[in-house]
Amino acid sequence: MIVKEILAKTVLSKSKVFDYAVNPYVGCEHRCAYCYARFIKRFTGHNEEWGEFVDVKINAAELLEREVKRKRVGRVWVSGVCDPYQPLEKRYELTKRCLEILSTHRWPVTIQTKSPLILRDLPVLRSFDDIEVGFTITTAEESVRRIFEPNTPSIEDRIRTLGRLRSIGVKTFAMIAPMLPKPEPLVLRLKGKVDRVLIDRMNYHYADSLYKLHNLQHASTDAFFAEKKKNLSNAFIREKIPFQFLY
Ligand code: SF4
Repeated sequence: MIVKEILAKTVLSKSKVFDYAVNPYVGCEHRCAYCYARFIKRFTGHNEEWGEFVDVKINAAELLEREVKRKRVGRVWVSGVCDPYQPLEKRYELTKRCLEILSTHRWPVTIQTKSPLILRDLPVLRSFDDIEVGFTITTAEESVRRIFEPNTPSIEDRIRTLGRLRSIGVKTFAMIAPMLPKPEPLVLRLKGKVDRVLIDRMNYHYADSLYKLHNLQHASTDAFFAEKKKNLSNAFIREKIPFQFLY
């Protein structure tokens, strides 16, 4: 893993999903095989494999402090093209410092992560007027997670963290996206821990070789996603959990 400290020029960027995105890191130690964010390599000149490099924007908080005063208030996605709570955040605390600034200036925030490290920052999360935290959970099966998301926290840790956050009044959601094999048991496990669930199919081809290697090609077909849509819809309705399919 090559970790480089860099001075960024900007950190509050426009986003197509929310108004803005803040990415304190370039690259992600979680190294998910399907990750779409690897497109960032084209713009940052990295030749390393995805998950083998992280640039740390050590001036992220100072930049953000200046940028929030210049730009119109809008919802900020933390992060979009990296996990804001990847392991390096433990050492650098850049996400934490950026959140403190956004909270002070009363900007609404949506955090998306796979890591219970977010619990370190409960005091700042509690200080927001408008905050939502989402966890990406792509399967209910640990063996599947290990194939596609080798460096990520366990499914159980993520679900437990969602429950903890919701129990202290933080709005939570789960993203079953991109959906991997065996998602159905997630419905019962998420019950009471999330306000809503978003679900999407696999829309990228980065992990095609892994599907092949593990004989899972059936799980990337239209028929698979249609069947899962039916199963999951019925289960979410039965359990009265708000949900939305994005396909
Ligand atoms: S955690 Fe998110 S940003 Fe990081 S590698 Fe996985 S999908 Fe990509």
